[in-house]
Order: sequence, then structure tokens, then C-alpha cells
Amino acid sequence: MMTTLTCSSSSSLILQPLKPPKPSKLSRFSKPRTLILTVTSSSESKPSKNPSKKPQKQPTSKFRRRASYGSSRRSTIKKTFSQEQVNFTAPFSSEPQVGIIGGGMAGLVCALNLDKRGVKSTVFDTGIHGLGGRMGTRIIDPQPLIFDHAAQFFTVSDSRFGQLVDGWLERGLVREWKGMIGELEAGGQFIPYLNSPPRYVGVNGMRPLADSLLAQTSMVNVVRPSWISKLEPYNGMWHVSENGKPQGQFDIIIIAHNGKCANRLLGSSGLPLIARQMKRLELSSIWALLAAFEDPLPIAGLEQFEGAFVNGVDSVSWMANNLKKLSSSQSNDPQCWTFFSTAAYAKQTKVPQENIPNATAEKVKTGMLEGIEAALGLSKGSLPRPFYSRLQLWGAALPTNTPGVPCIFDPHGRAGICGDWLLGSSVESAAVSGMALADHIAEYIQSGGVDPEEFAVGLHHEFRPLEGHDIGQFPGLESKVEEEAQTYQLTT
Ligand SMILES: Cc1cc2nc3c(=O)[nH]c(=O)nc-3n(C[C@H](O)[C@H](O)[C@H](O)COP(=O)(O)OP(=O)(O)OC[C@H]3O[C@@H](n4cnc5c(N)ncnc54)[C@H](O)[C@@H]3O)c2cc1C
Repeated sequence: MMTTLTCSSSSSLILQPLKPPKPSKLSRFSKPRTLILTVTSSSESKPSKNPSKKPQKQPTSKFRRRASYGSSRRSTIKKTFSQEQVNFTAPFSSEPQVGIIGGGMAGLVCALNLDKRGVKSTVFDTGIHGLGGRMGTRIIDPQPLIFDHAAQFFTVSDSRFGQLVDGWLERGLVREWKGMIGELEAGGQFIPYLNSPPRYVGVNGMRPLADSLLAQTSMVNVVRPSWISKLEPYNGMWHVSENGKPQGQFDIIIIAHNGKCANRLLGSSGLPLIARQMKRLELSSIWALLAAFEDPLPIAGLEQFEGAFVNGVDSVSWMANNLKKLSSSQSNDPQCWTFFSTAAYAKQTKVPQENIPNATAEKVKTGMLEGIEAALGLSKGSLPRPFYSRLQLWGAALPTNTPGVPCIFDPHGRAGICGDWLLGSSVESAAVSGMALADHIAEYIQSGGVDPEEFAVGLHHEFRPLEGHDIGQFPGLESKVEEEAQTYQLTT
């Protein structure tokens, strides 16, 4: 027997018998015993589904205006997997608003493309110092010292991403990183990538690039720092709030982040299919050690090298000289290096990223500095001590599996996901995903939402493992390097 739960104005739930839905719908969403929860759109009903909970303070003017939707805006919620599926059935509002939770590359490019398609959006991001998420740049005053402390550079293989990057080049937001990079084998053997495809970096680091991405938009609102802690379907709209404080209501919601935060947010949102896909995602961890040295590192014969993937050392997978990468001055400024651990080393030494015990921090720092000595072929203890260092754990650093779809969209729940992990583990995959979701949503809005089934994407895709470097993928770089290695083998 199926049952309807109706949230009445007194916030009690009324159980009513309900006709079973058609078998085709059943097979798509639910197990045979399904609870359908109809959220009434009466102005008195409350967004909270828990009747025992104290109602949230709602007398904001925004909230009162929404009451005018009256009974024409309805949403139903079906129980699937471990939570109920929300099902919006009412028409979109005349000027649909999209809420984007996450202001990394994926969320920002999604907002940018919605703007191009004439759709309004609001981006919420936790960033205290700026937008960008894993495109982080740390600037330490007064010197200043500068470090890209996550994404280091990116390559371009997708033509639409290429067009976007061309625009950034024109606006002076990115430039080609022509410095020498390659692979550093333990012991100090450096193999340069002589023929790598163009590599790009933010002109003043990755974060300034992220912060500038929306500068030319007119329909995007950014709210930062803001940590969205709750998503609730109510009166045909998504209501988002931050620690109980309402932050707006949206026709469509986008989750543009991943990891524990997203799992928590989706845990009771009414989006079981989206929540299930998000839960399948597996993420690696990476330690970042930022270190500033007074003098160039003692790397005799390797003075030209600016970045390297490190092989054969447990604790280090990448090192780059930010001074050379980001600054045109080749002066006596401090040498700011970013070192990343391997994912395996971070797994062995993992602790909660927001509370790293001093003993662990010291052990990891020592382990990584010893790893750098080993990589450079220096004797133990001969690496100069940095005069500034900072250790950070990226607890949810990079995806290790992917469904391989540009975006995920649940048309019944009017909710989507974009992010690097849907396609790969790179700045490019994040941007391509953001673009794809924006286009999909613009088209869904244009369709009036009358045939939702047509617009379901990625809700059931299986995941496959992701390959690449410990710090992600660099489309085009790997194939060029392989080509080079083969040519080298043929000619020797
Ligand atoms: C150590 C490291 C090195 C890397 N190096 C490279 C590289 O060299 N080249 C490359 O191409 N890629 C690299 N990557 C990967 C690249 O950084 C990512 O693929 C890309 O930046 C992901 O963008 P995103 O928008 O999908 O997610 P994110 O950048 O993670 O953005 C998600 C945003 O959502 C915010 N957020 C989370 N929860 C909430 C909430 N509840 N409310 C509001 N906001 C929220 C987060 O704070 C964050 O700002 C690296 C990653 C790491 C960790």
C-alpha cells in the first residue's frame, strides 16, 4: 500500500492512501513500497519536514512574497534509496533563479555560461580570501611571498575550453608558462618535457584568475564567505540556508562541490539519485608544503627547471618554483616553492585537515623535506632550511574515480552537479563540466520543464577508476610525453 504524507499548516503529517504510480515511473525511481510525501504550497506550511522541530523564523519579506505561488506550485517527494525524491511539478517562475553552491572553477564557469544564456544565478562559496576552491593562491605579506597551493598549471584539449582560455589570455588573466618542466627521478636526474603542449597559469596565481572570472557578467550574484548548510524543497522552490539563516530560494539548485560537505548537504535533501552518485565518488588526499628559501635550491645543472613531477620518492610527487613561474623578475627575491606529497604518503599520514596535530605536522614536513633531498640527489641534511614554511592537508584533493559524464541533472528534483570529478581531475574538466551543466539547465528552462524525463543526465552512470598524476590530469601533456619517449627510444 502506498501512502501520501501531507504537510498541513499545523505541520502534522496526514497519512492518506494513494494510487500506485504507473510501473514505468516506479521502476525508474523506487522500490515497490514507496512513500510519497506531498508538500502543500499553502502559505502557512513550513519548509522543515520534521514536525517536532521548532519552526524556523520565516517572516522575511522574500518569504512572504513566495506565498503568492499559492496552490499552483507543488512539489512531491517519493522515497527512493534511503530518502524521499522531491518532484517539482509547477512551472518555473518568470525569471528563473539558479543557486550554485560552490565557487570553484566548475561553479564559476557554470554561472558565467548561465549569464551568457540569460539565466540569473547566485554563487555561494566558503572562500574567506577569495573564490576558486582548489585553485588556491596564498600570498604572505609583507614580502610578499606567493604560492599556488593547489592547481599549478593547466592544459587545454577541449575546443570550448580553448575559446574560454583565449578570452582569458586577451584579458591578461592567464599566460603561457614557458618555463622548463619535466620529470625528476630520485637521485637528481631531470628529464625535461621538450615538446609539451601550451601550459597556462594565472598571471598572479590561480586564485586571482578565479576571482576575475565573473567580472564581465551582469546576471550573477556572488555570496562569500558563505557555507550553505541546508537545502530544503518548499513551495516549489529550493530554499538554502546557512546555519539556520535563510540565504535565498531558487528554481534550480546546483551542487558545485564534492566530498563530505556535499554528502552531508545531500543527505536529507530529497535528491537520492544525486546523493547516491555523489557518495560513489572517491577522493585522494595530498599534503602541500609551501616553503620559502633565501637562496636558490642547490640544484647544480638544473637551474632552468621550474617544475617537476617527482618519481621514485615516497613523500613527494611534485615541486615548483613559484618565483620563476609567477614573477617576471629574476631578482634576489625569496624562492617560493610548492611541494606536494604523493597520495599514498598522505593516506599513510592522514589526520583531520582542520586539526593537524603538531607532531604529525613536524613529521610530515621533515619527511617531505627529506624526500626533496632524495629527489634532487642531495645528501641528507644538506637542503637549506626554509625561512618560511606552511603545511596544509588537502583532505579531499582529487577524484580517483569518475562517472565520465559532463554533468549530472535530476530534472524532477531540479538539481544538478558539476565538478572536475564528473570527467576527470583537472581545471579543464571542472570548466567543461560547468559549461555543460549551464547549457543543459538553460535548455531545460527553455523547454518549460514539461518533459522532465528527457533531461535526466548521469543519474545512473557507473564509475570507473581515473588515471593521471597524483596532482591530477593534464590533457595533452601525457600523450606528448609518451610520443617524445617513443621517439627517444627509436633514435637511441
Ligand atoms: C594539491 C592539488 C593540486 C592540483 N594541481 C592541479 C594542476 O596542476 N592542474 C590541474 O588542472 N588541476 C589540478 N588540481 C585539480 C584542480 O584544482 C581541480 O580539478 C579543480 O580546481 C576543481 O574545481 P571544482 O570547481 O570542481 O571544485 P573546487 O575547486 O573544489 O570548488 C568547490 C568550491 O565549493 C566550495 N564549497 C564547498 N562546500 C560548500 C558549501 N557547503 N557552501 C558553499 N561553498 C562550498 C569550496 O570551498 C570550493 O571553493 C589540483 C588539485 C589539488 C588538490
